[in-house]
Amino acid sequence: METIFDTIIIGGGPAGCAAAVYAGRAQLNALRIEMGFPGGQILNTNEVDNYPGIPARNGMDLANDLYEHSAKYGLEEKMEQALRIEDPEKPVKTVVTDMGSYRTRSVIVCSGAHHRVLGVPGEAKYTGRGVSYCATCDGGFYKDKVCLVVGGGDTAVSDALYLSKVCRKVYLAVRRGELRASGITAQAALHTENLEILWHTELLEVMGEMKVNRVRLIQNQTKKETEMAVDGVFIAVGIQPTNELLSEIARTDEGGFVYTDENMQTSIPGIFAAGDIRVKPLRQIITAASDGAVAVSGVMKYLR
Ligand SMILES: Cc1cc2nc3c(=O)[nH]c(=O)nc-3n(C[C@H](O)[C@H](O)[C@H](O)COP(=O)(O)OP(=O)(O)OC[C@H]3O[C@@H](n4cnc5c(N)ncnc54)[C@H](O)[C@@H]3O)c2cc1C
Repeated sequence: METIFDTIIIGGGPAGCAAAVYAGRAQLNALRIEMGFPGGQILNTNEVDNYPGIPARNGMDLANDLYEHSAKYGLEEKMEQALRIEDPEKPVKTVVTDMGSYRTRSVIVCSGAHHRVLGVPGEAKYTGRGVSYCATCDGGFYKDKVCLVVGGGDTAVSDALYLSKVCRKVYLAVRRGELRASGITAQAALHTENLEILWHTELLEVMGEMKVNRVRLIQNQTKKETEMAVDGVFIAVGIQPTNELLSEIARTDEGGFVYTDENMQTSIPGIFAAGDIRVKPLRQIITAASDGAVAVSGVMKYLR
């Protein structure tokens, strides 16, 4: 007879790993579907230093620990891409993947978020050839070179600081006249010698030949345009939810983030969302893990 799972967890980032631990310990008949290497966004993190009890840990190592811990309870796992949820309103729903389909009484969507693109000319063309969205992944290619980072939030400023240790010179193009990054990070940026902040500056175009060799910028107060020679461009202008499974069926905000109640249930009974995909005030590992745990408790209430 075909298995009907108690729950299917989609995603193996911090939210999906926490959900797997809690589902395993609750002895739910659970399946986790992750399309890539488990760990989610923290695989791209140089160092995680804000998870209580785990001081300064390399992102890759923390991802590995999260995964190994979550796998220890023996839930079933598939390395597949979930494509859609069929019969979302029915008591038994079907998760269709690129390899098969699975029936379940509930679903916990932990598909996270990914970087936002700027959409300027040259950005897509030179992605992987000088344009990057991950300083810790690609920064090593720019030893003693000149790079531009775009953005003014925590990720952009952290990326600029990280690159300042590798590159000869780093420019940080900030649209406003202030940094949105948190205090310590912003202060460090203001006092790093080879890091120059270009205030009120926006990227208009990425240019090059085989690889990036220059950018066109605009000072948005004076409207003065300039060209600048750079070897690399790192874009860090926020994230958007990976919400394809829910965007058509569940209630979302205008940015596509999914609304849940305090049990992590979406607008559809039996479909839960946890982690960065949710509407929430803080998108971090600690809140993603918390969401995953709460979602399993929500699933248990729902199944009862
Ligand atoms: C560069 C960077 C640095 C960061 N540094 C920190 C930090 O120092 N401290 C901190 O607390 N937070 C940090 N964060 C934020 C933190 O990584 C996220 O808040 C957290 O990873 C969110 O976890 P998540 O499980 O919700 O989603 P994600 O980590 O995005 O994981 C989602 C997972 O779902 C999988 N998936 C998506 N769609 C499907 C599908 N259709 N089928 C199957 N699988 C799917 C993806 O492959 C991925 O593995 C950082 C983020 C970045 C990008």
